[in-house]
Order: sequence, then structure tokens, then C-alpha cells
Amino acid sequence: MTFRVLVTDEIDPEGVALLAAAPGIAVEEVPTLPKDELLRRIGEYDAIIGRSATHVSDELLRAATHLKVVGRAGVGIDNIAVDTATELGIAVINAPAGNTIAVAELFFGTVIGLLRHLPRAYESMHAGTWDRSTLLGTELNGRTLGIVGLGRIGSEVSARARAFGMKVVAYDPYISESRFQALHVRRAESLDDLLDETDILTVHTPLTEDTRGMIGQRELNRLSPDAIVVNMARGGIVGEDALAEALNSGCLAGGAIDVFVKEPLAPDHPLRSTRNLFLTPHIGASTAEAQRNVAVDACAAVRDALVLGELSRSINVATGEPGRWTELSPVRTLVRRAAAIGRAVLASQSGTAVGRIEVRGGPSVAGSRDALVTSAALGALDAVVEHDRLNMINARTMAEERGIELSFTETSDNERPGAYALEVRLTGGMKGITVGGVAQGTYNGGTDGGCRITRIGEFMVDVCPRETLLILTNRDVPGVIGRVGTVLGDAGVNIAEYHQARLAQGGEALAAVSVDGALGSDLKRQLLALNEVSSATVITFRGS
Ligand code: NAD
Repeated sequence: MTFRVLVTDEIDPEGVALLAAAPGIAVEEVPTLPKDELLRRIGEYDAIIGRSATHVSDELLRAATHLKVVGRAGVGIDNIAVDTATELGIAVINAPAGNTIAVAELFFGTVIGLLRHLPRAYESMHAGTWDRSTLLGTELNGRTLGIVGLGRIGSEVSARARAFGMKVVAYDPYISESRFQALHVRRAESLDDLLDETDILTVHTPLTEDTRGMIGQRELNRLSPDAIVVNMARGGIVGEDALAEALNSGCLAGGAIDVFVKEPLAPDHPLRSTRNLFLTPHIGASTAEAQRNVAVDACAAVRDALVLGELSRSINVATGEPGRWTELSPVRTLVRRAAAIGRAVLASQSGTAVGRIEVRGGPSVAGSRDALVTSAALGALDAVVEHDRLNMINARTMAEERGIELSFTETSDNERPGAYALEVRLTGGMKGITVGGVAQGTYNGGTDGGCRITRIGEFMVDVCPRETLLILTNRDVPGVIGRVGTVLGDAGVNIAEYHQARLAQGGEALAAVSVDGALGSDLKRQLLALNEVSSATVITFRGS
């Protein structure tokens, strides 16, 4: 059998050659095809590989009667109708890692450019002047680099920074201690700790609810006026208005931005006239090597998917116990949401990164242990990793890459017919938390996911984890529920369920509040401002 692969959008020839050399694959290379022609031809192919120019739409996928794989030579999958592909059983494969070095190198290019005034030096020489007095620079050597997000790119930046003689400190609550040690990077316990000692701040996190606006006016003011701030990750992680204001008012020495909230950046955007700001038009991945890497990665993964049936690189294919996928959907949802709760509570109450996740369940779910630990990994990584890169296939690897150990323990608990009781225990350093719940044996859809949370740490609760769960710890005194309700009510937040639990009268208490819609960080601050409330954790659930 020969698989026919359509390569479009000028994929680097090294990737195409790799496919062409594979036995059982016939490659056809075409330029970016007009929509109608592609629609007419797509039924002949088993795979299509492209970059961003070809729109792999719902219509195209439905016309692609033989298509098994869509390959994207790059990270972004905005041009692919992934939900339709999943529905049709078509694997979608992208190449997220090939541009890591390109971004790390651009970071040093722009920072040295800023410190040594290279754009001005270049312009002054071309303008016929010889003005050395205004070009006195500073060095990287001996300065402290503060990295937010010690993933692929953050790690490569850290290694190069050490070669420049810099001190490196990083804030990434989701990376294990052993990874910090292996990279010789000092861990900052909080973002504020990092800001207090940083000369050059750089963000390398995904854009998530937690990281959007993470570096705003307050954070920029906390930095020294000699500091430099760099965003080569995603537009909006560093607040654009706040950065412009800090640079224009002299509260910050310099900045470098490669990514913007809205791209392309408007010709008259205020950032363009901000002083000491080195702007580049999202060229982090624009090197010949990165383009070749992503082409080779994507083509190799498409080849393996077709020839070997290897789908571990697919972003949309889920695994599970054969024949029980639908039946166990509430159990996977329970485990995923329990892990998300445990991760958030560990992070907010003790700043601890998860090092180990153990799922505990009875014999009737033990056969699905792989899918369950993967679901727990998904839950623990949901708020940490960009959503379009995380699924049932890759969550386990992603967790393990972050140094998180995953395990399943079969319990001998008596099981009630039609209900599954499970616990997820997360540990990090000396801290640990167990979150447990019950999942239905049959589930007809709906936003509750068919499960309830019955235990958070030592507290016995009974609450359905719907869209958003708010967890408060407070002193057990009269009136707290009313005051919390008033804060939420005044903000127009609808409470679906409110469960208050305590260990002893007058002692520590915990409230699990399931609410409709999202909760903003302002609201969290208002809740923390209540005298009795000692911690507030918000978990927004994604996926089931
Ligand atoms: P990665 O997933 O390998 O690493 C991201 C790291 O951020 C992880 O270690 C994660 O634990 C950490 N993190 C997540 N939330 C955090 C939080 N709230 N606080 C602190 N740390 C947090 O990703 P990567 O491949 O290193 O990419 C990093 C960023 O760079 C992404 O946003 C990616 O889209 C972007 N990127 C930009 C370009 C460009 O052209 N400029 C090219 C490639 C990647």
C-alpha cells in the first residue's frame, strides 16, 4: 500500500526529502493551492502537510475522504479545523520544538543590541557621523537574568546566559527542583522575589489566564530603574501600555518585544514611538534552521503516523481502555478536575510545584490506569501549558518532562454499582494534598461532567466542579459565608453551589464555591481583603 502525501506552502526541502525517502510514501509537492482546486484534489491524499497559508477548513476535511493526518510545519494550528479533524478521526500533528534555539538566540541579539546601542550606532555610521560619546554601553557579565517560565526556550536562554557570565534566577512553579538543579538555575519562590533581584527580566511562558498581563504596572515598578524587560513569548504577557509608560517615564531602562497583542502591530501604535524599546516583527522563529527543523519534525511525525501508526505526536488523539471510553468519561473528568484543584491549592497555599501525582481507584477502573494518570497530568498542566499543545496523547510525556512522576494505585475499596470513587494525591517537596470525588457510572452529557468533589485535603466537601471553582480557607467565625456571598453577588457572579467545611468549631474552615462563568483577579483580591479569609484559589476547568 502506498500513502499519498500532499506537501504545500513551501515546506523546507529537507523535510520533503525525508518523506520521499520513506518506503510506502508517495509525495507530491505543490505551491499553495487555490481553495477550490485543493477541495477538488484533497480526496486523493492520505496526508497533507503545510504551514500557515493553507486553510485546512471544516469543508476541506469533510471532502478529504482518505485523509489520516494533517501536518503543520510550525506551532500554530489556527488555520486547521482541529475539532472537525478529531470528529473525523484525522490526526493533527504540529512541530512545537524546532524553533527553540532561534528564539533563545534572538533574545541575546536584541538584549546586546540594547545594552550596546547597536541600532543607534548603525544609524549614526550610515548617517556619516562618528559619535562615540553617546554610545557608552553596559555588559551582560555579572548581571542577573530573571526568567519567568523555565520550559524549552527559558532553559536554552539560561544555558547561554551562564556562558555570558550572568547570574540566572527563574520563577516557574511547575518545574521540579531537580530540573532547576540540572540547569544550574536558582529558583525564585515567587514572582516578586524574582523581580526584586533581576536586572534583565524575560518571559518564556505560554499565554494563559494566569500569564496574561502577568508583568503589569505593579511588577514593572518593582524592578530597578536600570532594568530591561523582554517579551518574546506571546503578546500581552507583558502589558503593552504599562511597558510604554514605564519606559517613557524613565522608570525602566529598556525593553525588547517580538510579539504583540494584535499583529501586525498598527503603524501608529504607541509602542513604535516608545523610547529605548527594541521592536521586532515576530521573528523569533524566523531562521532558516528553525524552518528546516519544524519541517523535518513535522514530516518525520507524519511519516511515522502513516507508516507505523505512531500517533504520540498528534495533538488531538485520545487514548483509553478499549471499549470503555464513553463509559469512563465522568471518571476521567473527575480525575482531571481533582488534579487541577490539587495543583492550584498546592501552588497558591505553599508555592509548591507538583513533583508526583498518584491516582487511587478501585478494580473496576484499574484497566484504564493509563488514561486516568494521563487525565490527571492534563488537569495538573491545564493552567500551565498552552491549550493547543496539550492532549491525552502528550500530557503524560509533558508531565514527565517537567519531572512529575505519575502513578496509579489500585485500592481494595468496596465499589458501589454505577458510581466510581477515586482520589488524586499530588505531592511536591514536603507538601501534599489529596483531592477525591465520585463519578457517575453513566453520564448523559452536561456541564457538570458527571462527577462531584467530596474531599479537598482534610476537608470533606460535596460540590460539583463546573466551570469555575473558588476555594477559600478562612477562620470558622459567624458571617463569613454572607460576606463572601456579598462580594460575589456585587460582582454579578452567580453561585451554583457553596459548601463550607471545617475541622473543628472556631478552627480552620474551607469553602468550595462552584460558580458560573469566570472570576477575575480583582475579585480574588477583594475576597482576600476580607479579614477572615486567609487564601483564595480560583480554578477554571478546561476540557473534560
Ligand atoms: P514550554 O511549554 O516549553 O515552556 C513554558 C514554561 O512556562 C513551562 O515550563 C511552564 O511551566 C511555564 N509556565 C506556565 N505558566 C507559568 C506561570 N504562570 N508562571 C511561571 N511559569 C509558567 O514553551 P516554550 O516552547 O519554551 O515557549 C515559550 C513561549 O514562547 C510560548 O509562549 C511560545 O508560544 C513562545 N514562542 C515564541 C516564538 C516567537 O516567534 N517569538 C517562537 C516560539 C515560541
